[in-house]
Amino acid sequence: MSGIAIITEACIDVKDRACVDVCPVQCIYEFDAENNVLFSEVQAGDGAIENSHTPNPDSIATFGDSILYVNTEECTSCTACYQPDVCPVGAIYSEEVVPNGSSKTKYNSEDQNKGHDHTFFIELSRDVFAD
Ligand code: SF4
Ligand code: SF4
Repeated sequence: MSGIAIITEACIDVKDRACVDVCPVQCIYEFDAENNVLFSEVQAGDGAIENSHTPNPDSIATFGDSILYVNTEECTSCTACYQPDVCPVGAIYSEEVVPNGSSKTKYNSEDQNKGHDHTFFIELSRDVFAD
């Protein structure tokens, strides 16, 4: 069983964009604070913007440009980005297994924030896109 991808706190200030390069539908976004826009590229850093959205001001204020965001309306649950060899810090989870902090939760092995409640990030992933 696989679900929508959720990026959690281990991405903060790492943001190496490895997940962007494996996503087949360009639904993983960066925040451009200068232009107040969420944008996605086919290949991270190539400058060719594939998709863009307006951020919700309240939600984007939480982490700003320190983290990447999955658009949950666009994610096809293909599983590519949350394979263990993609994110170097284990920040990405399938929605239905996002850790809730309990000792019975299965954490990504590289997640630096094991034991934390990550369920907030499901809400953030839904709210940060205003359109
Ligand atoms: S699960 Fe697939 S479609 Fe969804 S964000 Fe990850 S790579 Fe993109
Ligand atoms: S691969 Fe992991 S650390 Fe890198 S940008 Fe994606 S979620 Fe963040």
